[in-house]
Order: sequence, then structure tokens, then C-alpha cells
Amino acid sequence: MPYPLQGYQYRSTPSIGIAPFTGTESTTVSELLKQADLAMYQAKAAGRNTLRFFDPQMQAVVTARAALETDLRAALAQDEFFLHFQPQLRQSGAIAGVEALLRWKHTQRGMVPPSDFIALAEETGLIVPLGRWVLHHACKLLASWQNDPLRRDLTMAVNVSSSQFRSPSFVDDVARVLAITGAPSGQLKLELTESVLVEDMESTIATMEALRAYGVGFSLDDFGTGYSSLSYLKRMPLDQLKIDQSFVRDVLSDPNDAAIVHTIIGLSRSLGLDVIAEGVETEEQRISLGEAGCDLYQGYLFSKPLPVADLEAFLTQALKG
Ligand code: C2E
Ligand code: MG
Ligand code: MG
Repeated sequence: MPYPLQGYQYRSTPSIGIAPFTGTESTTVSELLKQADLAMYQAKAAGRNTLRFFDPQMQAVVTARAALETDLRAALAQDEFFLHFQPQLRQSGAIAGVEALLRWKHTQRGMVPPSDFIALAEETGLIVPLGRWVLHHACKLLASWQNDPLRRDLTMAVNVSSSQFRSPSFVDDVARVLAITGAPSGQLKLELTESVLVEDMESTIATMEALRAYGVGFSLDDFGTGYSSLSYLKRMPLDQLKIDQSFVRDVLSDPNDAAIVHTIIGLSRSLGLDVIAEGVETEEQRISLGEAGCDLYQGYLFSKPLPVADLEAFLTQALKG
């Protein structure tokens, strides 16, 4: 029931966690309370004002997460991260640049894909030092290309997650990395996702403008899967839309995906933005995208993401032709 407090009507809702105790298992009181607490946080996560029963699966998830977090913290210190680079090509087949993709080689777990640790890195705040590490190494490579006439015009795309972009030090971090590495800022392209745009538009625009003043460009990754409205797009200082690979995958078989691809390309034209398709795996997809007016391509058809030595070999081969 609502209740009055100093003239205001208050309404409290409970989130309830329940740990069943049958009296047969050898559970201690403090374990039971811990289980009930875990279940309560599940109830909160489910939107509050509800209840959840503890089940051992919850415990397993929390334990695995805690272990991953510990490992993630150690990984930065122990240099277990490295970058792969995937080429981006023009309609003509010429190489326009690369995208840096983070890899984690764990001593016991082996290769851990970004989908398994980026979200956790965001939640724990580790994404800020990790993102700085990525920027630094990507910019070092970009800078190293400046003395090579064949490589000096290539662009470097770097993924930036939402909480990294929001961190108060982000603009300074980028500026410092550019200064230290000597990378040409005009060839650095930060890939943002739509979640960044919709969260707090005014501060997003301010951060983007501050970076743009250094010459840094922006691409909108996974475009079409988020919630950005056309009025956001119009106001953002973007350079490129990146068509999400889910639309590219079925562009030949699903008329809806084909229609979406055409719409995104038309939209980018109207807004004066470049457009790149990601996840291009077949020649048929490339042709269909080309007919729709796509400028740039990235995907297994051209190359998988490569370790730096393989990338250099790929570039040498492709650029001399
Ligand atoms: P993304 O930025 O959209 O990257 C594209 C993903 O598609 C990459 O997966 C890439 O390896 C994969 N891919 C490329 N070509 C093809 C293709 O032809 N077919 C298919 N099926 N897949 C293709 P990856 O490397 O596992 O990265 C997954 C996501 O993790 C990235 O999606 C990005 O959101 C995030 N990520 C990667 N590196 C970083 C990073 O340094 N910082 C942050 N914040 N996020 C990162
Ligand atoms: Mg990306
Ligand atoms: Mg993407």
C-alpha cells in the first residue's frame, strides 16, 4: 500500500530472493543467506518488484564471472592481449584500411573471443585501460606506415565501447595516444555503436566534436541493429555507416534484408556519409552490395582478421598489384 511521508505519497516495492531449505542438505546459515541474496539480485535484475528462487546454476554463473574478472585483470598486466587486423576494401578492390580487433590468449583457457569478455570489461571498468591499450597499439601500427608510400594512406578503425567513450578521460586518452605514437589523426576512425548515440546525445556530440577537432573520424558499427533515430543521425558528426553483418548475411535470400541494405545505403548517400558492409563472405554478396551502391567492404571473402605479420604480408601482396 502507498503510505504518506511528510506530505508525499510513497510506494515501496520488494525484490525477494528465496533459498529453499529442506533440512536434509548440510547447508550453513551463511550459505543460505548468500543464496537468498543472489536470488534477490536476480529478482532486481529481472526488473524488481518480483521474486526469484535460488538455483545452483546462479551460483555457477556468478563464480565463473568472478574467475573471468580476476583473469581479465591479470591479463592486462601479463600482456595476454594482442590485436588482429581485418582489411577493408574499396569497390575497385583497392585496400582502404583495416579494423583492429582485440584478441585474448589466456594461458589456460586458450583464445577467448571478445564476445566473452568485452561486456565484463565494460561492467568492471577494465574497458578503460584495455581500450587505451588497443588504441595505443593500433595507432603505433598506423604511425609505422607513414614512411611507406604504399601504406601511408590506409585508415585504422578502432572499436570503442559505450562506457569507454563515456569515461571522463576518453578525449585526453585519444589525444595522448595520437601525440605519443605520432599516428595521423585523420586516418584514425573510431567505431561507435548506436547505444552510444542514444544514451546522452548532448554529451556524445560534445565528445565527438572534441575528437573531431583533432581530426579523428567516426563510423557507426552494427548499423541497423540498435535504436538510433534519424534525428540523432542528422546531428552526429559521423563519417561512415557500417551495415551490420546480419543484413549482409541474408542479402541474397531475404528480400527484407535486401531492402534494409538498400535503405541504409540510400540513407548514407542522403546524409553524405560513407557506407561499409561488414561480414561479406561470398562474391554474390559483394556483387549485390555493389549494385546497391556500397562503397567499402570487409569480410572473410577478402580476408579474415590477421595477426600483424600476416597483415603486412597481405598488404605487401595487395598493394604492389
Ligand atoms: P565488430 O566490430 O562488429 O567486428 C566484426 C566481427 O565480425 C569481428 O568479430 C570479426 O572477426 C567478424 N567478422 C569479420 N568478417 C566476417 C565475416 O565475413 N563473417 C563473419 N561471420 N564474421 C566476420 P570479433 O573479432 O569476434 O569481434 C566481435 C566484436 O567484439 C566486435 O564486433 C566488437 O564489437 C567487439 N570488439 C572487438 N575488438 C574490440 C576492441 O578493441 N574494443 C571494443 N570495445 N570492442 C571490440
Ligand atoms: Mg567494429
Ligand atoms: Mg560490427
